[in-house]
Amino acid sequence: MRWKKQLLTLTPYQPGRSTESVKKLYNLETIIKLASNENPYGCSNKALEALQTTSLSMAIYPDGYATSLREGLASFLGVKPEELIFGNGSDNIIQMISRALLHPDANTVMAVPTFSQYKHNAVIEGAAIREVPLVNGEHDLEQMLAAIDENTNVVWLCSPNNPTGTYIPENKLVSFLEKVPTQTLVVLDEAYYEYVVAEDYYQSINLTRNYPNLIVLRTFSKIYGLASLRVGYGVANPAIIKALEPAREPFNVNSLGQAAALAAIGDQEFIEECNQKNRKILSRIYEFCDQNKLEYYPSQTNFILIDFKVDGDKVFQFLLEKGYIVRSGKALGFPTCVRITVGTEEENEGLLKVINEFLVKRESEELTGK
Ligand SMILES: *Cc1c(COP(=O)(O)O)cnc(C)c1O
Repeated sequence: MRWKKQLLTLTPYQPGRSTESVKKLYNLETIIKLASNENPYGCSNKALEALQTTSLSMAIYPDGYATSLREGLASFLGVKPEELIFGNGSDNIIQMISRALLHPDANTVMAVPTFSQYKHNAVIEGAAIREVPLVNGEHDLEQMLAAIDENTNVVWLCSPNNPTGTYIPENKLVSFLEKVPTQTLVVLDEAYYEYVVAEDYYQSINLTRNYPNLIVLRTFSKIYGLASLRVGYGVANPAIIKALEPAREPFNVNSLGQAAALAAIGDQEFIEECNQKNRKILSRIYEFCDQNKLEYYPSQTNFILIDFKVDGDKVFQFLLEKGYIVRSGKALGFPTCVRITVGTEEENEGLLKVINEFLVKRESEELTGK
């Protein structure tokens, strides 16, 4: 068969390790997974209720226009229904954008390290990829701008950025948007938007009014706790949405996901509570890192990238054998770090205890020169 040759260079997405396999391997009773930035408190009860009470027939295709969810979300966000596009997760929208705009004669600009799927999809489409290194964990918008030329069809911004947790400040974003050519689509991936607490964070959706080449991506997978149902969305000028729609599969968002997401929007109290708990535990992690002289990036998300100054895989393996699955920074472009999802208070206390064991062990190895 004549596969696209770029496909042969790719490996499938490596998800966090499955808890069952780890349990067996290390003979553990419980496993705490803090690897995929899922909400440790689950989802809103309203979403669960909607799943039970919505009369759905599994034999019937979902509403391809996601009408109820579209109307509910439009009203919640203060946008017009035609300013929204829905995806089977925001991953699916990244794929649609790539499919619609990238090809071997185009190039695409992104930060590095950042969320892996921008590059992955660009490779599949055969586009030239221009990666601009982060500076202190943040996007270098000036260099990204310098990387743009007349063949740049898409620029990817991730704010807050995965895996660093840092955000793009408004003045930098606006001056960037002012200078990006109008034929270049700017994608602002805000998967962690609801976790942001920085007081100077902006209403990015309003920017889509001033900059018709901007699309904002958000998801129900992170703070909304609906990752398994796969619902993400994009907000942009209706002209962009209209142009993207033919690249969308007709029934890409399933009925259960639509019902649960709509109900979940109606419970902002849950979102607020999750965010507050997240902040509290995050500051506990900061404190621990400061006490133990571990460097980290201040996070606007529900994860934190910590630098252990040793091979990240080693830290990962140590934690794994004690029942905690985190993400080694090695595959994320930070070889001496691990990325940890903020869990519940109890999960976090357990984790910090085990990290402490690791640090003690490391210290004694250093002392004995092992
Ligand atoms: C998790 C994540 C996504 C994907 O979310 P889904 O909506 O579940 O596909 C997109 N972007 C970033 C930066 C993420 O961390």
